[in-house]
Amino acid sequence: MAKYTFGELDNIKEGDIFRDREALMKAGIHSVRQAGINGNRNVGCCSIVLSDGYPDDIDLGNEIIYTGEGGNINKKQFEDQSWERNGNKALIVSELRGLPVRVTRGYKHKSKFSPKIGYQYAGLYLVTEHFEEIGKDGFKICRYKLEKLETEIIENPIEIKLSNGNKNTKRIEVTTQRIIRDTKLAKEVKALYNYECQICGMIIEVSGVRYAEAAHIKPLGKPHNGEDTPENIICLCPNHHVMFDKGVFYINQEYKIKGLSGYENLKLNNTHNIKTSNLEYHNKHIFIDKK
Ligand SMILES: [Zn+2]
Repeated sequence: MAKYTFGELDNIKEGDIFRDREALMKAGIHSVRQAGINGNRNVGCCSIVLSDGYPDDIDLGNEIIYTGEGGNINKKQFEDQSWERNGNKALIVSELRGLPVRVTRGYKHKSKFSPKIGYQYAGLYLVTEHFEEIGKDGFKICRYKLEKLETEIIENPIEIKLSNGNKNTKRIEVTTQRIIRDTKLAKEVKALYNYECQICGMIIEVSGVRYAEAAHIKPLGKPHNGEDTPENIICLCPNHHVMFDKGVFYINQEYKIKGLSGYENLKLNNTHNIKTSNLEYHNKHIFIDKK
């Protein structure tokens, strides 16, 4: 079984150049010799290489429109691509799970960002969309938008004092995609529920890949300092995640859903022990709709 490493690698910097695909493999950046997509439908895609194989690729630097794999020989499409291909499914998994993808450009890739020789590591990107089109050769192609992942993601609007003595504050609006970063335990809890929302039972399935969110009952970070343990995590659909985090409803110590009409009991796997003190904390501090 191949092992896949996601994200930045030790001792490898953006801009590093490797002589050939062999060297790229040895460095651990892209562990397959030929394919452009490194990964599979279970773990997602950890790395892609841009080369000259797909004439429909668009490279704008921080934004890349990438073509999936299949139906192509000698740089020509001869049949439709399929979303069921392992590599194509892997990129959807990365999109839905918010997994970072290492991007490397080869010297043959036609773009002003490509290196003159060898293969240049270009940093981490997120897959933000997938869609299909008819390519230049007249066949269906699987398309992905990848956007450069800035090293610092600002999650909240910030206020900056303009200068000393100036009382004006300027609100900087920062729009970011809702990126949900999962901890290992969050992934385990979601898997335990098969990605089914514990409130409404909804399953979101995109091309066979399931999506759900892990909600911490007692929030992580200051000042709450909730724990990242299964006793403090539930699996929710995006709507119920936002409503829970914003305190629209709560779950009482008998695991009954309160403040949300139409739903009575939290769906609970009998191996999942939620700490009632976490529910109590959420009820006391986060649930704000106390009429
Ligand atoms: Zn739900």
